[in-house]
Amino acid sequence: MIPFVNLTAQYKSIQSEIDNAIKKVMSETAFISGKYASLFEKEFAQFLGIKNCIACANGTDSIEILLKAMGIGIGDEVIVPAISWISTSEAVSSVGATPIFVDIDNDYYTIDINKIEEKITPLTKAIIPVHLYGQPVDMEKLMDIANKHNLKVLEDCAQAHGAEFNAKKIGTFGDCASFSFYPGKNLGAYGDAGAMVSNSEDIIKTARMIANHGQEGKHNHIIEGRNSRMDGLHAAVLSVKLKHLNTWTNQRIANANNYNSKFENSNLLSPKVINNGKHVFHLYVIRHKNRDQIMSVLKDNNIESAIHYPTALPFLECYNNYEYKFSDFPIAYQFQQEILSLPMFPELDDTSINKITSLIKDII
Ligand SMILES: *Cc1c(COP(=O)(O)O)cnc(C)c1O
Repeated sequence: MIPFVNLTAQYKSIQSEIDNAIKKVMSETAFISGKYASLFEKEFAQFLGIKNCIACANGTDSIEILLKAMGIGIGDEVIVPAISWISTSEAVSSVGATPIFVDIDNDYYTIDINKIEEKITPLTKAIIPVHLYGQPVDMEKLMDIANKHNLKVLEDCAQAHGAEFNAKKIGTFGDCASFSFYPGKNLGAYGDAGAMVSNSEDIIKTARMIANHGQEGKHNHIIEGRNSRMDGLHAAVLSVKLKHLNTWTNQRIANANNYNSKFENSNLLSPKVINNGKHVFHLYVIRHKNRDQIMSVLKDNNIESAIHYPTALPFLECYNNYEYKFSDFPIAYQFQQEILSLPMFPELDDTSINKITSLIKDII
């Protein structure tokens, strides 16, 4: 059996480091925020080359809290891509704003930058580019549009830890950025965890208050906030794993190149990387018109695969009230019928890639 991801293999490769880190947290009972969360915040900010990081409970809260910290709420519009995990648009609605979907680019699958301006209205306050599957958005072009229209930019980096555009880490281009450390992400905790990063002291100060019941100092509740803090156990695990992230990213890229070379000269679309981009391959997503057939043959051969995502955001039942038609987002609509995510994790070996690719090539 070839799994889609293999977190057991990763744990075994660093087991003593992880076990020791967990034991320390337990013996020091540093369970919530505290020493280990602060340490991870410093390390992750340093990794990105950004001033501030706030460790929080998950990568959905982080988007929502950052939107609030930038003053976005009822009556505002926020531009998001038509393809993403639902958190991106869900967080917009959660603060009372309206998600405005933009179709994706047919080659790189991230937001189509050329279609953003036609969606901007006097109510538009922000853009959330998503570095989907680990592919960086062209942040220079995106920032030009945002600056021209005086819009805030919140980068959704949940799938793209360590990805770069023009040799600069994504998450450092916009006003602020959100990360998820869901276990299956490129950098994953052992449960839910997330982070907010920014060079802006104002955004960070407000976001930190919101994530900790609106407190500035203990029992000094300046505003009503919420509880969204990172557990010490997750922070300690993340500190251990962060040291290995570059190695794991290189292994993901090598696996993607291996897949690509096997699919050369076939009629299957393998992922392309944007010019001047470093793609970190959270997912390896192929396109083919016989997607369903490929998926079922893989399944018959005990190989896991998945679809990210079966339904583009505007077509989800929860957005029926907007009454979108498939023709409103033609690229996303075609895309959702053709995509398939193949097994992708650092420890995936050549034998498995050979097996997967030869099975697929037989079908197509
Ligand atoms: C995983 C993910 C999130 C949300 O992260 P959680 O930690 O699961 O809340 C947000 N956006 C995208 C694009 C994601 O893939």
